[in-house]
Amino acid sequence: MNVPFVDLRAQHGPLAQEILSSWGKILDDGGFVGGEHIEGFEREFAAACGADHAVSVASGTDALRFAFLAKGVAPGDEVLVPANSFIATAEAVTQAGATPVFVDSDPQTHVIDPAAAAAAVTSRTRGIAAVHLYGQTADMDALGSLARAHNLWIVEDAAQAHLAEFQGRRAGSLGDAAAFSFYPSKNLGACGEAGAVVTNDAAVADRVRMLRDHGQTRKYLHAVEGYNGRCDALQAAALRIKLRHLPRWNEQRRALAARYVERLRSCEDITLPTTAPDCLPVWHLFVVQLASRNVVQAALTERGVATGIHYPVPLHLQPAYARLRCREGSLPNAERCAQRILSLPMYAEMPPGHVDYVCATLREILSAQRA
Ligand SMILES: *Cc1c(COP(=O)(O)O)cnc(C)c1O
Repeated sequence: MNVPFVDLRAQHGPLAQEILSSWGKILDDGGFVGGEHIEGFEREFAAACGADHAVSVASGTDALRFAFLAKGVAPGDEVLVPANSFIATAEAVTQAGATPVFVDSDPQTHVIDPAAAAAAVTSRTRGIAAVHLYGQTADMDALGSLARAHNLWIVEDAAQAHLAEFQGRRAGSLGDAAAFSFYPSKNLGACGEAGAVVTNDAAVADRVRMLRDHGQTRKYLHAVEGYNGRCDALQAAALRIKLRHLPRWNEQRRALAARYVERLRSCEDITLPTTAPDCLPVWHLFVVQLASRNVVQAALTERGVATGIHYPVPLHLQPAYARLRCREGSLPNAERCAQRILSLPMYAEMPPGHVDYVCATLREILSAQRA
């Protein structure tokens, strides 16, 4: 059997007619930039997150960068960034002019460890990048207390957490601003690149609207230098159609995650993902931990099961950040997890039979290893 890691065709097949018909109208009228689909998607996505404003942009990375800039970061400022994340979180900090300070993760939930974050605060710290990794929100209670104690802002990196909840409130409404990515394989994916900043702060929303459009306040009047960071109308039109299915897709991911847990629970060589009590995760990824990860991954590949590692090298040890001089061994949880984590196939349309095959194959590989 061949089990892909994700299969985007399974998602787009049933929606193709509707998306193509919406795109046909845009082709006819030539409204590729701005317009009703941009405004409509922004309204609908803000409502889905339970927040006042959504501002669509060209990517999740732009969303992060514009959110940091809107919070006013400046050279010399420090932003706390979990070492276990995609590099975009840190890139956006440096590209906004600030310095990332890498923080260790919780060994069970993999999100930023609030105690480690507290220990990393200096007089230059301005904010926290709260990455809702794998579809589970960071501990927003503990991070909120830390932020209040030191007068810090919180930008959520919600690129993996569309509609995830913390204490019944949705990602996008949990910090000062939130960045979403609609990269095709995310829980809500565009047919290309797109992202959004979501916030309850009208000033942040206005600032991001200006930044994404060359710093314009009105046509050809530029208050600041900005960026070409707009989302295009084709993406917004497709995202409006797909957003209507997102709650159901997340439910399907939860059912698949439960099926994985059911079938792997009794296997003592696997550490299953931990859900924190206050969180309702949306399972962007289903990440297990294994002692002999590389061997198991190779054996799974051999038997047709595609897997991933998110992420194999923690950010503080990336060559790109050598100048920050972080030592190996300095963030032990993130480093240990990077050796042990394995992302199993997960997407909303994944056939339950594929979960069963992955679990049976994994069990066989592990018992052969024990023997
Ligand atoms: C995907 C992702 C991003 C970047 O989003 P793009 O749309 O690819 O720019 C940022 N942070 C995390 C955690 C992501 O998974």
